[in-house]
Amino acid sequence: MVFDPRNVQDRPSIRTDPPRWADNHDDTGDNGGVRVLVVEDDTSIARSLNDSLSDAGFTVTHVANGRDAIAAAGEADVILLDLGLPDIDGYDVCRTVRAESSVPIIVVTARSEEFDRVLGLELGADDYMVKPFGFRELVARIRAVTRRAGTDLDRADEATSPTIVVGPLTIDRRAHRVLFADTEVLLTPKEFELLAYLAEDAGAVRTRADIVEHVWDANWFGPTKTVDAHVAGIRKKLGDPRWIEAVRGVGFRLEQPG
Ligand code: CA
Repeated sequence: MVFDPRNVQDRPSIRTDPPRWADNHDDTGDNGGVRVLVVEDDTSIARSLNDSLSDAGFTVTHVANGRDAIAAAGEADVILLDLGLPDIDGYDVCRTVRAESSVPIIVVTARSEEFDRVLGLELGADDYMVKPFGFRELVARIRAVTRRAGTDLDRADEATSPTIVVGPLTIDRRAHRVLFADTEVLLTPKEFELLAYLAEDAGAVRTRADIVEHVWDANWFGPTKTVDAHVAGIRKKLGDPRWIEAVRGVGFRLEQPG
C-alpha cells in the first residue's frame, strides 16, 4: 500500500484494502501506547494514516494545521509532520517544536527535491519521507525513532559508564541530557546518539559506516549527507566547530578544542 496524494484523491477511502500486516500480532504488539501526532491538512491522507496507524496499535491524534501541531506536540511520542500546511510553514513548525522539545519528528515532503532543503536548514527533524511512501516503511521509521529516543535507560544499564565527560562536555545517557559547562544543550534524539557515540571514544575516528549503523540503522539507506547535517547541528549547538573534526575520506572524531 502506498500513500500517493494523486491516488488517494480518486479513492475516498482505502479502508476497503486493509494492510496485510494488520493481522500480524508480532507487528502490532510493539506499537502499543506509542502516541503519534499526525500533522496533515489533506483529509484523505490524514484519514488513511489515522486508520492504518490505529490498526497497527498506535494511539493517533490528528491535527490539520501548524498552530494545532505546536499546541499538541507536548503530548506526542513521535510527530509525523507534513511540510505543506495551510497556516504556518512546516519548516517553522519543526523549528518551533524542536526549540522546546526533543520529541522525534519525521518530516513528510511531497517532492524528493526537498531532501536538500530539509537537511540544509538543519531543522532538527529525525527522519523524513517522500510521498508517496509505503506504510511498512513508515511504521519501521516510527519504531526506529521512538526506540532510539526511548531506550536510553536500557542502554545505560549496559554501558559501563552512563555518563561521558569530555572537558566541559557532560553526556548523561541515563537522564538523556547534555551539559556544556553546566548549561544544557538541547539536542535531537539522533544528535544525542551521534554525540554520545563519538564521545564514547573521544579522540578516535568513527567511520561514516559505523556512525550510520550505530546512530541510524544498519538498514538505513538515506543520503550520507544526513550525517554531515547532524554533525553541523551539533557543532553549532556546542558553539565551536572544532569539537567534531572531519577526517577526510574516513569519518569524524570528537575532541576538546585545544
Ligand atoms: Ca499538505
